[in-house]
Amino acid sequence: MTNRFAKELNDMTQITPQPGIMDIALYQGGAAHVDGVSNVTKLSSNENPLGPSPKAVEAMAQAVTSMHRYPSSDHTALRTAIAETHGLDAERIICGAGSDEIIAFLCQCYAGPGDEVLYTEHGFAMYRISALAAGATPVEVKERERVTDVDALLAGCTPQTKLVFIANPNNPTGTMISEAEVARLADGIPEDAIIVLDGAYAEYVEGFDAGASLIEARENVVMTRTFSKIYGLGGARVGWGYGPKPIIDVLNRVRGPFNVSVTALAGAEAAVRDRAYVETCRVENAKWRGWLADQLAGLGVPSDTSCTNFILARFASQAEAEACDDFLKQRGLIVRRVAGYNLPTALRITVGDETACRAVASAVQDFKAGAAQ
Ligand SMILES: *Cc1c(COP(=O)(O)O)cnc(C)c1O
Repeated sequence: MTNRFAKELNDMTQITPQPGIMDIALYQGGAAHVDGVSNVTKLSSNENPLGPSPKAVEAMAQAVTSMHRYPSSDHTALRTAIAETHGLDAERIICGAGSDEIIAFLCQCYAGPGDEVLYTEHGFAMYRISALAAGATPVEVKERERVTDVDALLAGCTPQTKLVFIANPNNPTGTMISEAEVARLADGIPEDAIIVLDGAYAEYVEGFDAGASLIEARENVVMTRTFSKIYGLGGARVGWGYGPKPIIDVLNRVRGPFNVSVTALAGAEAAVRDRAYVETCRVENAKWRGWLADQLAGLGVPSDTSCTNFILARFASQAEAEACDDFLKQRGLIVRRVAGYNLPTALRITVGDETACRAVASAVQDFKAGAAQ
């Protein structure tokens, strides 16, 4: 179709999407290729460099032979495995095609035209996208030096506020706030609003329950979790939510009956039961995260202490951040620009394996040396 014809058709058509939909910018995933460079290392999507647990791989391979069968529609086996390993009530767990789907369910069920959905200045892109998709109004509030600001969130609440999303720890900042601060937020939001604690990176924080105990004591707190990060199963698309029974029951009404595939369910169940593997990944990540942050700081590229599997590296200017990104790309190192998250002078670098971390440090060193000449 020629552009002219497409435009005329567009002007004529009576077929229009729901309000808000055209305000959604297409989600830009982390790049995976560089033109002319083979052998790239992808450090742009916070994936686990060690991959999934061998037990999960084995379970998925087995499950492939039953692909002619529809998956379980109530996810009992996976919910039971999650409940047993986390000390939670299986009846209050909902599984989704990634935690993105749980975020979408929350917006679809609890926010519509005239309602407001709050999130922070450097908050995860899916909050805005899902709010707009539901016809609600996204509202962004300031952070304090790249840390979630509970006072700003409370001040941003209005009678129209229905959902408040925070990722704790947050992406792309890597910072987190204390349980006391989260409790203060949960206690201060309007009575008919829900606070959603996105725990995508919770497993990287030793001993952290991602807010589960806050949920037990309240009616307005929901937590989302994912198999895409420490479990190394981003390609399988599995996430879950936990909250008060009445809210989980509502979300289940809009959930497609077969929203999680046979292989994804099998892989996630095996992965969540392999606690030793999760611990290995957590320890390995912490080791190389600390090493990489120290190296970069020594080269004049500081970052906040990260509680996640990535570092938000801060440069002197947007021009320097972009030049360094280009330099890294030529070495086959793909990291993430985060100007779209209101962080134009920073790059988000996933903590890879030892080889990847050493490659990033030496490339940044060469970049800085070149720039100094
Ligand atoms: C990666 C990430 C998710 C996970 O999304 P999935 O749909 O489960 O893959 C959720 N929230 C945040 C903040 C993330 O960074």
